[in-house]
Amino acid sequence: MNELGLLDCIDSRALRVDAFDCFDMVARTGEHPVFVVTGEEGEYLGLVTARAAALFPRRIFADLLFQRPGPLEPHDLPLGDALREMDRRAVDYLAVTSEDGAFAGVISRLSIADALMHREQQQRRELEALLEDYRHELEQKRIAAAVFDSTSEGIMVTDARQRIVQVNPAFERTTGWSREEAVGETPALLHSGVQDPAFYAAMWQSLQQTDAWEGEIWNRRKDGEVYPEWLHINAIRGEDGEIHYFVGVFSDTTRQLELRQRLQYLAYHDALTGLPNRQLFMDRLEQALRDARRDGKGLAVVFVDLDDFKEINDTRGHAAGDELLRNIADALRSAVREVDSVARFGGDEFTLLLPDCDDTDSVSGVVQRVLEGVNREFALAATGEAVRTSASMGIGLFPHDAGTAENLLMAADNALYEAKADQRAGYRFFSASGYDQFVERVRLTSELRRAIAEGGITLDWQPQVELDSGRVVGLEALARWPSADGSFVPPDVFIPLAERSGLIEELGVGVFERAMREVAQLSSEPLSCDFDTLSFAVNVSPLQIHPALDGQPDFAGVLSAIAGSHHVALERIEFELTESALSQSPEELYRVLLRLGVNGARVAVDDFGTGCSNLATIKRLPIHKLKLDRSLVRDLEDDAADREIASAVVGMARAMGLAVLAEGVETREQADILRDLGCDYAQGYLFGRPQPMSALRSTL
Ligand code: C2E
Ligand code: MG
Ligand code: MG
Repeated sequence: MNELGLLDCIDSRALRVDAFDCFDMVARTGEHPVFVVTGEEGEYLGLVTARAAALFPRRIFADLLFQRPGPLEPHDLPLGDALREMDRRAVDYLAVTSEDGAFAGVISRLSIADALMHREQQQRRELEALLEDYRHELEQKRIAAAVFDSTSEGIMVTDARQRIVQVNPAFERTTGWSREEAVGETPALLHSGVQDPAFYAAMWQSLQQTDAWEGEIWNRRKDGEVYPEWLHINAIRGEDGEIHYFVGVFSDTTRQLELRQRLQYLAYHDALTGLPNRQLFMDRLEQALRDARRDGKGLAVVFVDLDDFKEINDTRGHAAGDELLRNIADALRSAVREVDSVARFGGDEFTLLLPDCDDTDSVSGVVQRVLEGVNREFALAATGEAVRTSASMGIGLFPHDAGTAENLLMAADNALYEAKADQRAGYRFFSASGYDQFVERVRLTSELRRAIAEGGITLDWQPQVELDSGRVVGLEALARWPSADGSFVPPDVFIPLAERSGLIEELGVGVFERAMREVAQLSSEPLSCDFDTLSFAVNVSPLQIHPALDGQPDFAGVLSAIAGSHHVALERIEFELTESALSQSPEELYRVLLRLGVNGARVAVDDFGTGCSNLATIKRLPIHKLKLDRSLVRDLEDDAADREIASAVVGMARAMGLAVLAEGVETREQADILRDLGCDYAQGYLFGRPQPMSALRSTL
């Protein structure tokens, strides 16, 4: 509180006058109640009030004044004492010194009274503010207590010696220990023994150094159950700088952990059959190869492909197809040895990893059992009937055929092709007769890998037009692989190669990244058409699509991030999936398409009419457009049957609310027929060949 001193009350209206003519001055100026009288040197002599000057004859007054010069009061004299001094001397004014003892000014009774009143008011205000602070603090405490009691997170407060001093109801619920039981104990009450002493040492070090620690910790409930919790600890220091309390806030993460484990499982397993997926198989193969190299042993990789799966899937429906795949998975699992692994690679393709097998005889034994397990009838509950299946297998041996996981798979794949081509329901070892072809594929694959890594895959864009108006409404990106000699490897060759060698994901991401870059570039250039009405189609292989792995974003997440980084809205993008992708199991595909559709991206079925898609499946899936395959467009003018088919497809698509685009339109006649059939859009050489964006731009 500010203690007012005399200096604060000085009456500035006091005039200084010289001792000899002070009476004349006092007589002349009526407005000043008091005058300071100074001597010849300017030294302070005393005060004279206007009233006194008027009352007393000048001589008497002058004598009085000079005999009794008014004393100087020190500036820090308390106000009360100053008033008493005035009473004692029966005066209304006092002269005051400044801090250094020199004459500073005059105070009056009135100004002291003012100051006292002011001080009182100020004290009252300060008191009120104090009261308000106190009320606020009470309120805060009440809120804090309510939060403490009602929060779903457990809270434990310990003192500096780690004695528990307070816990909240959520603590009681989570740990099973009541407040009465916990208070006075140490957190060791909850120790599960899962973490080692080094863990706690690191935690304490962090607390001492940064006053905080956060992490997952396994604790034990009163009933003995061990559970994971996410724990934050903060050290609370007092004004002395010492730690007084530790506040631990935790949430039980059992559910999240289960979820994490489930996601982890899904990321490495096929949801339909529960078998390991491609990713996990590759991990295991790499590990098995390391072991085999170390122990000087061999191993075999087998590709298993069902011969008639597609037909069964198309004719009996996807539910039957799914059931069959699950049966096959079981059959494979029971045919192989304990040490072997079975994985689903995709569609109707399975792989076997047979460690410790380096001669054809021991492999043949396993493979024979697999054939017996698969080449038979399976009763399907979905349709109530039995279906016969057969499988073809291709085998690659380490170290005989190849030395790396990738080449080993390629060797097995090559052998599978031969097995399929030669006779059905059989198996083939990788053989020298397929060697040249194999070597060529290996060479092309490694060149493709380099091209992808070095950004050597470029894009052509082909316009998509609205048939009614002839207006360009979209552009499709088509991947190009130019080789050093200026020729192009066709996508029909390198896309399947990328799919078989596992490069497709990287290729797909590269293509999408480049497509978005070129779209962003286009948006900043002057066009005769309205950029905002254009959509951009990108082809996607079903093998590119994968769920989130180990904290990395899933397929949709990756693409959203890329589009976002180029400021392209996903609503502008159409993903084209080939019809063959639809023969995947519908549950799987449904998830995939939903993920593709996140944030408004659209999905088109490419090359529609080349497979035998099940309409019921298409209806269930989140698809926006069908792209009529070129083979259905080619003979439209001459072939009445093709016109019928095209007409039926267009009618069906419209009934299902899907847009239709015809591919490979080369003549005006084809375009006219398609328009008359009700087809909305078309694409083909008639409207524009695929070309680089730099060339296409001028035509837009
Ligand atoms: P698609 O997606 O059905 O692409 C249309 C194909 O038809 C393109 O062949 C295009 O050049 C060709 N085409 C367009 N108009 C006409 C025409 O009027 N007449 C004839 N005869 N052909 C026409 P392209 O570029 O050789 O691509 C072949 C396939 O490769 C594509 O078929 C697509 O399935 C795949 N593909 C291309 N780029 C990618 C990609 O980036 N990712 C994936 N996963 N696949 C791609
Ligand atoms: Mg396409
Ligand atoms: Mg197509």
